[in-house]
Amino acid sequence: IKQRQYDVIIIGAGPAGACAAAQLARAGKQVLVVERQQFPRFSIGESLLPHAMQFLAQAGMLDAINAAAERCAFQFKDGAAFHNGEQYTTFDFSEKTSAGPSHTYQVKREQFDLILAEQAQQAGAELHYQHSVEAIEPLSQGHRLGIRDSAQQLIQVDARFVLDASGFGRVLPKLLDLEAPSEFPVRKAIFCHVRCEQMAAPFNRNKIVIAVHPQQRDMWFWLIPFADGTASLGVVGEPRFSDDYADAADALWQLVSEQPYLRDFVAREQVIRAEQSLTGYSANVKQLAGDGYALLGNAGEFLDPVFSSGVTIALRSACQAVPLVLRELAGESVDWQQQYSVPLRRGIETFRHFVEGWYDGRFQDVVFYEPQQARIKAMICSILAGYAWDENNPYTQDSGRRLTVLSELCQS
Ligand code: FAD
Repeated sequence: IKQRQYDVIIIGAGPAGACAAAQLARAGKQVLVVERQQFPRFSIGESLLPHAMQFLAQAGMLDAINAAAERCAFQFKDGAAFHNGEQYTTFDFSEKTSAGPSHTYQVKREQFDLILAEQAQQAGAELHYQHSVEAIEPLSQGHRLGIRDSAQQLIQVDARFVLDASGFGRVLPKLLDLEAPSEFPVRKAIFCHVRCEQMAAPFNRNKIVIAVHPQQRDMWFWLIPFADGTASLGVVGEPRFSDDYADAADALWQLVSEQPYLRDFVAREQVIRAEQSLTGYSANVKQLAGDGYALLGNAGEFLDPVFSSGVTIALRSACQAVPLVLRELAGESVDWQQQYSVPLRRGIETFRHFVEGWYDGRFQDVVFYEPQQARIKAMICSILAGYAWDENNPYTQDSGRRLTVLSELCQS
């Protein structure tokens, strides 16, 4: 680490950290990014939403992602396909009501995250892998961080502002006692990568597949195709769902064999990245910012994987925080609650209502209802494309109540 004092220290070089680092460095700030792991490294969270493309562009990173798409087998994505028994429906992002891009990618995160981190370095940020933030102490202006370097030495570095983008590491929530329980029940995901070139019809590699378990409506599968004939496959449910099996891999493949659409074209013999599981990933915090620090992406809040909203929220949080950090560094006083938390949480709330509606069945009633009303479908499509902050879309306002009304209409 070159200096003992930086304008901004960013904890974590995932999408949120890299996106913030690139913009702050380009604005002429001295930025240190501290990343615990060595990149490239695997991460879950492979299906992006079109709204994310706007933030990648804003951070000056979109050209690099587009240029790498073919080499890295990023899969062009233009929608979502939902399966439930015989029921099947697709959402084409081109039919959304919100302005903005209508396509994106499904990405292998080891490559995607590496490209973003390299972009941040090219913009001028100093980035160190295998360095881990372990302590924080307030100074009269800013904070002093205790950083364990790759040689296991503990070093102290000061920052005028700290951005925590440590994802599930949740560094500042733990160190500053900011953690709050998530409103969602504990759920477990079991996932792997699998070769699947031959797909059963109807299938379109351009769409993420979300398939519901035939007997248990709150259990669902994802299939996220990549451009090289492989795909990410996962199942999500309450943790007891895997109790009856020898291990997580057995649970995944037994459950896949019960899902009539998926079982035809994904097979255990075709696994290329071993099955692994994650439990209890939903998280919340008491506050998203405080004196001299703010939390980005998953270091703040994580809802649920069902709408692939995680990376989009992470990138949006970075783009919202950067101008505020710049103002604060320029000596202005910033109301982080009103200017960061409230507007960021508005869209997160929309996703929250849709996630709740997915698990209690209201949103599934709407998704699988036939015949679908084009106008309503287009507005819902906007949210599925990530535009959960679009105030012109009635479904971003009072979304819980609207979903209830819509699902009652579908049932009647
Ligand atoms: P991360 O990507 O987690 O990056 C945080 C970084 O901080 C890591 O590299 C980590 O090593 C580093 N770090 C941690 N602790 C420290 C420390 N002490 N010091 C230094 N560095 C540290 N999102 C989607 O958009 N699409 C999906 O399809 C999707 N599917 C998902 C499926 C599952 C089962 C789960 C659990 C999540 C899914 N997500 C998905 C969410 C997605 O994984 C996250 O929202 C996203 O990675 C958040 O980005 P981030 O930059 O906030 O954090």
